[in-house]
Amino acid sequence: MMLVLGNWKMNKTVAESLEFTNDLAASILPKTVDIGVLPPFVDIYPVAGVLEGTSIKFGAQNCYFEDNGAFTGEISPPMLHDLGCTWCLVGHSERRKYFSEVDDIIKRKIVALQRHSIKPVLCVGETLEERRADRTFAVLSAQLTRAIEQLDLGFEEFILAYEPVWAIGTGIVAKPTQVTEVHSFILDLCGKMHPKTKFKVLYGGSVNSENVSELILPNVEGFLVGGASLSISNFTAIINACAVANKN
Ligand code: PGA
Repeated sequence: MMLVLGNWKMNKTVAESLEFTNDLAASILPKTVDIGVLPPFVDIYPVAGVLEGTSIKFGAQNCYFEDNGAFTGEISPPMLHDLGCTWCLVGHSERRKYFSEVDDIIKRKIVALQRHSIKPVLCVGETLEERRADRTFAVLSAQLTRAIEQLDLGFEEFILAYEPVWAIGTGIVAKPTQVTEVHSFILDLCGKMHPKTKFKVLYGGSVNSENVSELILPNVEGFLVGGASLSISNFTAIINACAVANKN
């Protein structure tokens, strides 16, 4: 089943998040696609209330790796678990760029999330400079190896999101050939590191209702959607396109 996650980033007040989520819950949505929204922390509790009893799930965009304590301003995995979060993003390029989230921190967040039964969604991707310098695979390999090579991922499914930094919020979407090539590389590398784990790779970066169909490719298991997840019509159109593809 394909997975479509809406990353709201730092958007929507509580009132706006309630309006959006009520509209989403009232929409006719396919049962053949896993759907999730990732609101800002303050919106998670009210959103959880609206989504209770629906098939739409929710998660967080970030967390800290300790369970509790003197860490002013942070939110822990047990707090997210208590709210009912299914997923939590780790290593989003905006966190790497603006908040110094380095691979070692990402690794610790993954461990902490797994300890509290929240599925990490590990985001990786190269910058335009790195792609032009032909360093895409080297960068992805370093990000993935440092974050998960030493971890015990068990036999479970593990979700990754390939998000080329040059495609995020730019309107420039990666070409299907580029997505296929990188997803194969990621699956191959991760499969070698953890042969017993099933890896699911989402694509993210300027996905919208117009371009989504061309990005539904054999090794694309879903999408991490930013800007286009903020409007009900765009978000539901992306979800419906995935349902048409009807992947198992
Ligand atoms: P975008 O963001 O869809 O606005 O490019 C995707 C993301 O950063 O997760």
